[in-house]
Amino acid sequence: MLKRVLKIVLVTVAILVMMPLHAGKGGGWSTVGTARLTDIEIEYITFMREEEKLARDVYITLGPAWGQTIFGNIATSEQQHMDAMKTLIEKYGLIDPVVDENDVGSFVNDELDELYSVLVKRGEQSPYQALMVGALIEEVDMEDIQLAIDATNRKDIKAVYEGLLCGSRNHLRAFVAQIESDGLVYESQLYPDDAEWTAFIESVINSPMERTCGARRR
Ligand code: MN
Ligand code: MN
Repeated sequence: MLKRVLKIVLVTVAILVMMPLHAGKGGGWSTVGTARLTDIEIEYITFMREEEKLARDVYITLGPAWGQTIFGNIATSEQQHMDAMKTLIEKYGLIDPVVDENDVGSFVNDELDELYSVLVKRGEQSPYQALMVGALIEEVDMEDIQLAIDATNRKDIKAVYEGLLCGSRNHLRAFVAQIESDGLVYESQLYPDDAEWTAFIESVINSPMERTCGARRR
């Protein structure tokens, strides 16, 4: 967590150093979107770009291991989430932490780098563990995306996050449906002892798939 914050601070400083150059070229501060974002907004945009890559990369890696098409389908959706975050990064002139999108399993953020290794290792144990890893990733995503939504007042940024959040709810429903097709009952892995969180997860699982994630304008 501390490493994650430190990294983001460094990226932020780099952006601030670069800003006068942009301002000179563009003829005014108004052309530099970064100037209007808070540090925390920048931190979350940068982090979420890589967190969506984490989901994509884990599913890309685990799918072929168990021949489950669900991973391929959801990996495609995660690519769209990565693209949506990249659009925000470009819009606000931020530094993209993803240097090479094709470099599966590589992350600037140490926390995500470690998470990738741990989750892939677990998911390679069995098809069941792979599905549980998928569900866990979606739980983590939902928490982080909600924090990111709460950390900004900007409608354009919130709209992108809402699309990601809707996608995560659908992905969780898909993974849980597969897990429970074997007669098992899924329970929250992230905060199993937190009544509020487990009730939230239950409400997601027990509500139908949403058809129009990210299509609505706010
Ligand atoms: Mn996603
Ligand atoms: Mn997802």
